[in-house]
Amino acid sequence: MDVIVSRSYPERAEARAFEDAVGAAFASETGSDVLVVPHLYHIAEQDGVWAELAALAGPLMVLCWMYPRPVEWVLRRHGIGEVGLSVADLSTFDDVAQCLDACSAQVDRTPCDGSIRELAADISGRWHPVLDYSRCINCGQCLQFCLFGVFALDEEGVVRATEPDNCKLGCPACSRVCPRGAIMFPLYRKDDAMAGAPGQFVTPDDAARRMFEQRTKRLHKQAPADDDLDALIDDLDRLAERGL
Ligand code: SF4
Ligand code: SF4
Repeated sequence: MDVIVSRSYPERAEARAFEDAVGAAFASETGSDVLVVPHLYHIAEQDGVWAELAALAGPLMVLCWMYPRPVEWVLRRHGIGEVGLSVADLSTFDDVAQCLDACSAQVDRTPCDGSIRELAADISGRWHPVLDYSRCINCGQCLQFCLFGVFALDEEGVVRATEPDNCKLGCPACSRVCPRGAIMFPLYRKDDAMAGAPGQFVTPDDAARRMFEQRTKRLHKQAPADDDLDALIDDLDRLAERGL
């Protein structure tokens, strides 16, 4: 089985040592082939590493520094893990043995070489929405709401984040208005549900609905401005402070 270890970003020496130790343990203890990659959320959309991971034949175990649900959907967006996918958050383990214990039941022991390979990829500090298609009902509200052209319909009429890097750093607004809690921002640490924590989903409240109505009315009347975005982020911060 292939095990993918996604590095921290920005890189931290302590995290890197843990990633290396976990990779070595999986290779030697479970005989898995280990691929070490840069932080999966930050790899450039068009980077060739996605095709390399999509070409892996069997089920995958992915170890990363994020909640599992958004990572699963980042990978599925690139056609990775269709045969089988397990994801674990490295930050939930105290040490390598605990990680190995927790994950080894999910590791397919089909004999591999026990190799470790580091894949290079183009990364930068990205910020973009991740859509969970097990929850999305294709209502199009995110597409209507976003001021920056992040979403569009594909040729089959399905809402996709076609221009993810148009998303504005720190803006998680569409996540708050999505009626199904299908939009995640895995690095948004002010709100675990928005970050995709297990079993937690954002539900739009009255304030978010009002924000949606106000913004969509304005969207068709004028071009987006930086002030607009700042006001939107302020609105969201106020909602978060009030625990809404
Ligand atoms: S708002 Fe949510 S449910 Fe509706 S299309 Fe967008 S992601 Fe899907
Ligand atoms: S967070 Fe804001 S800028 Fe990014 S996709 Fe959603 S609405 Fe658009």
